[in-house]
Amino acid sequence: RVKERGRGNFRFYQPQMNVALLSRMKMEHRMRQAMEGGRFRLYYQPQVCLNTGVVLGVEALIRWFDVELGSVPPGNFIPLAEESGYIVTIGAWVLNEAVRQAAVWQAQGCARTVSVNVSSLQFQQADFVERVASALQNSGLDPASLELELTESILVQDADEALARLQALAALGVVLSIDDFGTGYSSLAYLKKFPIHKLKIDRSFIRGLPADESDQAIVSAIIQMGRALKLTVIAEGVETTAQRDLLQRMHCDQYQGFLCSPGVPSEDLENVIGLAMGRYAEPS
Ligand code: C2E
Ligand code: MG
Ligand code: MG
Ligand code: MG
Repeated sequence: RVKERGRGNFRFYQPQMNVALLSRMKMEHRMRQAMEGGRFRLYYQPQVCLNTGVVLGVEALIRWFDVELGSVPPGNFIPLAEESGYIVTIGAWVLNEAVRQAAVWQAQGCARTVSVNVSSLQFQQADFVERVASALQNSGLDPASLELELTESILVQDADEALARLQALAALGVVLSIDDFGTGYSSLAYLKKFPIHKLKIDRSFIRGLPADESDQAIVSAIIQMGRALKLTVIAEGVETTAQRDLLQRMHCDQYQGFLCSPGVPSEDLENVIGLAMGRYAEPS
């Protein structure tokens, strides 16, 4: 009877394990094929000045359009790429593509920063600083027009190594920001120690605004702390004018969110920015 049950279990579990394994391997394989086949794109989401409505920069967000799988959201493949190490290849492509695009905007006389998300593994590469420096050099982009979005986890792992690397990046003249601020483990001590220029308040604290009093308190505290430390503060995930207006009253510097625009292809960006600025000028 034990044997039967064992066999039953075997039959029950084996295909599931195979499916899990196969889909992982398949995803991994398709991800590489997609990279080689040029199926990745960068979309750009505006970062808006809360005082003027001017779009100061854009965040580059990766998009995967697979022949078979369709559109694969970053949440479905970035974690896998981070586990397998393939994020290093993806990250290198993102960095070079974003910098290339930003240099095109710069050549068109458009002062606009581009923010690039940097994964922990990518940041830990021994030659990461050189990769950033050569991307800038190859493109001719003003280093101040490149922003690197780091997660708090980067600061926590091997703090000495991270400090040296961040100082080298800051010396290049690039802007360093902390993404999803408030959700990780970074402390005020980290903000003092590392050459950080900008905080991105995580969307989870913006969602409850303007009604939620806890979110109000947290967001207000982050903004005040950021100002006291002379950091730029940007709110992520702003979807309503009520949220935007409250953030403006709280003296937040910038916002990013569907209220202005989701990420769009570079060819749609000027149109989106024009529309957003037209809307901003209208009395609400
Ligand atoms: P993130 O860096 O925090 O990016 C913001 C995410 O919030 C984006 O999702 C964006 O589309 C979404 N978002 C922006 N405004 C709003 C809003 O008003 N409401 C809502 N509900 N969502 C909003 P996306 O593009 O799906 O990216 C998810 C995450 O994947 C990113 O979070 C980032 O951690 C990662 N990611 C995206 N592109 C890259 C990349 O090129 N490299 C790396 N390493 N990670 C990336
Ligand atoms: Mg980001
Ligand atoms: Mg973020
Ligand atoms: Mg986030």
